[in-house]
Amino acid sequence: MRDNEGRAQIPPELLEQFMKQQEEKIIKQSQPAPTPAPVNYGGYQVPTDFIDLPSKGAFYNEAHPWHNKEKVEVRYMTTREEEILSSVTYAENGVMFDKLIESVTVDNIRATSLLPGDRNAILINTRKNSYGDDYQFNTLCGKCYTSFDHTVKLSEMVNKEFDMSKLSANRTVFVELPVSKRKIEFKIATGEDVQFINKQAKQRAKHGLQGSETMDTHRRLIVSVDGDSNPANINALVPNLLLKDSKFLQKKYDEYKPDVNFVYSHECEACGHVDKGGVPVGINFFWFDE
Ligand SMILES: [Zn+2]
Repeated sequence: MRDNEGRAQIPPELLEQFMKQQEEKIIKQSQPAPTPAPVNYGGYQVPTDFIDLPSKGAFYNEAHPWHNKEKVEVRYMTTREEEILSSVTYAENGVMFDKLIESVTVDNIRATSLLPGDRNAILINTRKNSYGDDYQFNTLCGKCYTSFDHTVKLSEMVNKEFDMSKLSANRTVFVELPVSKRKIEFKIATGEDVQFINKQAKQRAKHGLQGSETMDTHRRLIVSVDGDSNPANINALVPNLLLKDSKFLQKKYDEYKPDVNFVYSHECEACGHVDKGGVPVGINFFWFDE
């Protein structure tokens, strides 16, 4: 969810480190904001709300409860969710959002099965319904690396336009690479794909292996090259993709990815640079620095 578009100048490691520090500081120092008292509507029913899924349910198979569902029902947060948000273990294991999503959704779904954009829509709505519309975060200027605070209105983060007619019958996308002119077919990343790619990164770090998240992403999402879908040939192509072609492909993944539009714009007080970036949604999305 850390969309770095518009601040490509920040070395990714530096931004990652900064975000991690922020999160660690928050886990150590602060408490989740108090949960608003649950409202009773005729008995002890927790109020619910309907959310438009950025994906319109288009990428879930028939067995999934959200197959072709455009709207899903979610509950407001209660003390049950407060417990999830207070769990340092969940936060440290990186499963806090999974647990929260599974707790607020009325349908019985596994959070890891969801498209990243659909997860985002649920988190934003849940945050807005419980703690209000304003969300302040802290990030770095892309030019001078000075940290700054910025506040966005969550209600203004609407879903990106998502045009199903641009997809193939198999829900894939065909593009031609600008330099090599090769024709690439790629798929839209599902929750499983994101999990797989993250796992690869962990494996690489653990065993000191070479490679990059970009390569893992290409390997996972490219379905065919010039009509050839042999995985061995796709694997062989990926390390040799020209930089400009690789960047083009990454841009296309983002363009076609169903998601909430997270882009904010901020003028740096220190150097005047206008940062256009994706709103960071780390664990401090629900934890307040006091
Ligand atoms: Zn600056």
